Amino acid sequence: MIAYFSMEIGIEQRIHTYCGGLGMLAGDSIRSAADLGLAMTAVTLASRRGYFRQMLDKSGRQTEAPAPWPIEELTEETPARAVVRIEERDVHIRAWRRDVVGVGGAVVPLLFLDTDLPDNHPDDRRLTDQLYGGDDAYRLKQEAILGIGGVRILRALGHHDIHRFHMNEGHSSLLAAELLLERMRAEGKDEIDTRTIAEVRTHCVFTTHTPVPAGHDRFPRNMVRKILGRHEAFEQSGLFDHENKLNMTYAGFNLSRYINGVAKKHGEISRRMFSGFTIDSITNGVHLGTWVSKPFAELFDRYMSGWRADNLSLRCGLSIPHAEVWEAHTSAKGTLLERIEADTGVKLSADALTLGYARRMTAYKRPLLIFNDLKRLRRIAEQIGPIQIVFAGKAHPRDDDGKAMIEKIHSAIAELRGEVDCVYLPEYDMELGALMTAGVDVWLNTPEPPLEASGTSGMKAAANGVPSLSVLDGWWVEGCIEGVTGWAIGGHNNDIDHDRDATLLYEKLEEAVLPAFYNDRHAFIDIMRHAIALNGSFFNTERMMRQYVVKAYFG
Ligand SMILES: *Cc1c(COP(=O)(O)O)cnc(C)c1O
Repeated sequence: MIAYFSMEIGIEQRIHTYCGGLGMLAGDSIRSAADLGLAMTAVTLASRRGYFRQMLDKSGRQTEAPAPWPIEELTEETPARAVVRIEERDVHIRAWRRDVVGVGGAVVPLLFLDTDLPDNHPDDRRLTDQLYGGDDAYRLKQEAILGIGGVRILRALGHHDIHRFHMNEGHSSLLAAELLLERMRAEGKDEIDTRTIAEVRTHCVFTTHTPVPAGHDRFPRNMVRKILGRHEAFEQSGLFDHENKLNMTYAGFNLSRYINGVAKKHGEISRRMFSGFTIDSITNGVHLGTWVSKPFAELFDRYMSGWRADNLSLRCGLSIPHAEVWEAHTSAKGTLLERIEADTGVKLSADALTLGYARRMTAYKRPLLIFNDLKRLRRIAEQIGPIQIVFAGKAHPRDDDGKAMIEKIHSAIAELRGEVDCVYLPEYDMELGALMTAGVDVWLNTPEPPLEASGTSGMKAAANGVPSLSVLDGWWVEGCIEGVTGWAIGGHNNDIDHDRDATLLYEKLEEAVLPAFYNDRHAFIDIMRHAIALNGSFFNTERMMRQYVVKAYFG
């Protein structure tokens, strides 16, 4: 069996135990594992208060509220219990289970670890409440519950047959430390030897998602000792780095037989960042059954039945008549425009070229690039054809730059009203993600390369026949065939120049995107069909999980 560990997992709309791309990928991976009938159990935290609910006032100021979810209604309590010692107290853990059922009926159980038990100290009862909340100490405690508690819960459920532990990012690296401790306990040893480390390593695989050093969790040794106690296994097995910190990425890397980045380019960047490790790449995907809109699902059912179980069928998207592709798209766009009107009162035009931009609001993703030169944007819309833009995205509660960007987008929206109509939808979540990626005409992405490890929203768009207009970073380096599957903004450079990139974006809109949309609809629909056939058929989690099976799980 494979045990899949992730701090966040986005499995369905009502269970908002996710923040963004990492959790969505985890959810899609599990759904595809179930489709493929893989023997897998997934482990995450209960995150009873969710990530947060985003509220925006008129000027775009974000405030946050807890987003609790009814764990008792949506999952079943298992009898399993485990204990992890934290700050010299026993913290009791239980697990709630929800079954993820694949297309063929196979099941992947998803376990939500929960410390809200009466036996626990009141502070400890809150440890599994808040996803990415609290201070470093709170985070380390959560990671101990996920990694150490997760392994113990799996054992309590009778799983002694796990041949691979998959760490989806470093938050679960302590699972590998627990595997070391297990062996030491079993053999009555208090010193670790290289044979034990080598043995643990045969069972672990690690996926890294972060191309910047600051994105990797590091905890000072004295904090680790205070919270987890002094364990020889931690001291001796290379878990601490040269600055005496427990670096969750190095810890996971050191104890893994296989390490991968999430796109080819991200693999290269990771190899440069972590010299000394062998790092492969498996490019991300999306779960097509989840992200293909109803009108396109019906179309796919007619032209390539069985596509849910065999995603490669989407290559036949090239045989769907133009008129039917357009009709399905018009229907998906109509659904989005209705939602926009209901949420904001703004009635966007069904005929105007509509760009979509939704992701975490943070500086490196450059959500304001499209507004770099409002005069030029207005002129393009006036001279070539109308442009509308739909935005969504949350800023992390402590990311003041990200929050300021949401406000700046709101003021640009106000300034452009009547010329380039734009809206900002609050509460970007799974459902809105699905509506937007299917309902806009072109999906926009303007990160600072090389900081977008992969990105997956553009893949959801592609599966719905929505081409991307994007900087060449992350998955788009592999997915972009210029003028065939979408358009690139600029070339393969990694230096950052906002003015240059904005100019290149405007030029592409002016010279390629708008002319195709307004003057050559046949050519535009051809690009839509290629997005489905070339990118939908490849950038899915069915292909991705097959690669994990060959390279990571049974390699
Ligand atoms: C798909 C998705 C993401 C991740 O997409 P990126 O392109 O990596 O930003 C994040 N949040 C939600 C709600 C999504 O649906």
